[in-house]
Amino acid sequence: MARDPRKGKSVSAPRGRLPEGAKACRGCGGAFTPRNRLQKFCTRTACFSERRAEYLKRYMDVWRRRHPDYWKTERQRQYLSSWRKTHPNYFKKWREKQKRLRRKH
Ligand SMILES: [Zn+2]
Repeated sequence: MARDPRKGKSVSAPRGRLPEGAKACRGCGGAFTPRNRLQKFCTRTACFSERRAEYLKRYMDVWRRRHPDYWKTERQRQYLSSWRKTHPNYFKKWREKQKRLRRKH
């Protein structure tokens, strides 16, 4: 186990022959020097987009768990908009009816 002289923390080297301070990329498996402890992918374009996709997926998972009702309402909204397309005059008529009703009061 090698030690990072700046942080005094042990640096794990999964492949056994990585230079000190380097990590194996989770995308391509190549060695790279992470800018921070959380960086798991190197800066190659393919690995970068993979990292972004993973980040986005995780972010969306968390977001979905935090907003469980959103997808319900989003589905309703989508259903409604598709329904609206098949019934283009319904809302127009409905609005006109509401206007007429409001005028009476
Ligand atoms: Zn990589």
